[in-house]
Amino acid sequence: ALTIGIVGLPNVGKSTLFNALTKNDVLAANYPFATIEPNVGVVSLPDARLGVLAGLFGSERLLPATVSFVDIAGIVRGASEGEGLGNKFLANIREADAIAEVVRGFHDDDVVHVDGKIDPKSDMETINTELILADLETLERAISRYEKELRGKKIGPEVLATAKDALEVLQAGTPLSAASVDIAPISELGLLTVKPFIYVFNVDEEILTDADKKRDLAELVAPAEAVFLDAKIESELIDLDPEDAAELLSSTGQDESGLDQLARVGFDTLGLQTYLTAGPKEARAWTIGKGWKAPQAAGVIHTDFEKGFIKAEVISFDDLVETGSVQEARAHGKARMEGKDYVMKDGDVVEFRFNV
Ligand code: GDP
Repeated sequence: ALTIGIVGLPNVGKSTLFNALTKNDVLAANYPFATIEPNVGVVSLPDARLGVLAGLFGSERLLPATVSFVDIAGIVRGASEGEGLGNKFLANIREADAIAEVVRGFHDDDVVHVDGKIDPKSDMETINTELILADLETLERAISRYEKELRGKKIGPEVLATAKDALEVLQAGTPLSAASVDIAPISELGLLTVKPFIYVFNVDEEILTDADKKRDLAELVAPAEAVFLDAKIESELIDLDPEDAAELLSSTGQDESGLDQLARVGFDTLGLQTYLTAGPKEARAWTIGKGWKAPQAAGVIHTDFEKGFIKAEVISFDDLVETGSVQEARAHGKARMEGKDYVMKDGDVVEFRFNV
């Protein structure tokens, strides 16, 4: 499954946020047979379309798409040179598809800041520097290995050339995501600064309700996405019933919880979309990549669906709502039979036909 790794300096609220993520565990509630790893938190992607579908089909339950977050140890200045912690940290973070960096914006004299002051910009620089240093170290080691492998004709020259280009970018202090090097030939290295970033500002209520301040912080990290939340409030929201939660949110000037925001932004950052299925049992959103074709999308439900794919009956969500039922959509020519080259669109309501 696609996962987003959570990083940040110590005492910025990572554990508080992660506890909210795990308590909110939609896996436990909706997918009783899924294995739940202790360091993985799962949030569901808010999707109002599922409720509408459930209404049309009389579905018993709603199964939204999910986004997984992995808790990764905190980074301190010098972490990339660290012995034990460094390596374990790197192994976990390499496997993440994107990185959510928690940045402290809250003030609390009882909670020590590792660098002695609340300064989001400097904190982000510390983290980014550590990630760049970690990549530099990975690359330096890889380059000496690649030189041998090239002499032994085990790799092509483009591998070594790409590694050297990447090294140069990092030596200039630039993360690879901000450069134009195509790192495909060295993707096996799992370089960190290639991964897409989301910035999670853990802030006080004052900032949550201050649009100007939020815009300034968002500009600091653009074009990466910024999410603003108060980790303490998030951990309280989890324990409230929906009405009380809505009240607490609106009293802090928010119309959506931070976890919901994080799921949405995470989903977009990973380049994902969903298609929908519905029936009397469940209305469900399935996660696919943008540009995926129908058989590959069917494979997310079951590998047999992909192998035995014949065709897909597709109705766009809007057409289905407008016509009111599958029968009516068919009668109005809004249900399309699509073949194996059909490129899926977000919000397609699908029924697959397949051979077993
Ligand atoms: P971590 O080291 O990044 O995992 O940070 P923690 O989640 O353990 O938080 C460090 C301390 O800051 C704890 O005492 C939290 O209760 C407190 N804390 C976390 N988030 C907030 C917040 O949004 N506001 C305030 N005032 N305190 C927070």
